[in-house]
Amino acid sequence: MISRIDLHIHSTASDGEYAPAEIVEMACSLGLEVIAITDHDTVGGIDEAMEAAQRSGLEVIPGVEINAKSKDQSIHILGYYIDHRNESLLAELTKLCHSREWRARRVLEELAALRMPLKWDRLLEIAGGSLIGRPHIAEAMVEQGYVSTIREAFDDYLGRGRPGYVQRPRLAPEEAIELISSAGGVPVLAHPLGVLPILPGLLSAGLAGLETYYSGYSVEDSRVIASEARRHGLIATGGSDYHGPSVTPGIGLGQVSVPAVVMKELRARHLALINKG
Ligand SMILES: [Zn+2]
Ligand SMILES: [Zn+2]
Repeated sequence: MISRIDLHIHSTASDGEYAPAEIVEMACSLGLEVIAITDHDTVGGIDEAMEAAQRSGLEVIPGVEINAKSKDQSIHILGYYIDHRNESLLAELTKLCHSREWRARRVLEELAALRMPLKWDRLLEIAGGSLIGRPHIAEAMVEQGYVSTIREAFDDYLGRGRPGYVQRPRLAPEEAIELISSAGGVPVLAHPLGVLPILPGLLSAGLAGLETYYSGYSVEDSRVIASEARRHGLIATGGSDYHGPSVTPGIGLGQVSVPAVVMKELRARHLALINKG
């Protein structure tokens, strides 16, 4: 079902397939009314998307998705109506992006020590402009004949606990929530199914919403999350987590049905945040 709102979209600014302006164009031709660009740890795609949307009638909400970590669990925090020029936000996001590069370089050192040297420039080519991640390193290892498949690269070297594994420093989810709020953004727990037990800590940090409608969530899943949201006075948001067909096959832009009331609630919360600060 095509809805008119999609609040979870990745562009080429992180690991999405399409440039922000292309996403805007697609959203317009699908008849969407509101989209949020929510790239991982970066707001680099926002300006392009907002410019492309001018005169189109499409509202582009400046957003972000911060990849945080709690114990061994990956926790993603979305931020809506974020001031994407806020300096402390930008400084912190730059640090997080650098931490990816830092990790990639550290992995290369580990691999070199294992007599599997790789060239940084080749990795940049493979990554094709996005941040270098482990899949790119695995691809380079296959190319060099160190392993025969990407799977083998992860199983033997790059996976957790393997000799080429390097832990990347990440924010705690509470820190991500505070960072987003301090930049006027409304913090929302992304795809919360499976991580709901950590909710109490996030509530006291200022969490404002739960991503209730999401690609792959059944009606029953959404019902469970919606009732959690109601119980804690949280906004029930939704989005597709669109990355493009070759990154996340089967997930379409605007394919998740999101109730229109969420927009009023998000705007109200955003206004309350900026008036408080
Ligand atoms: Zn996510
Ligand atoms: Zn996402």
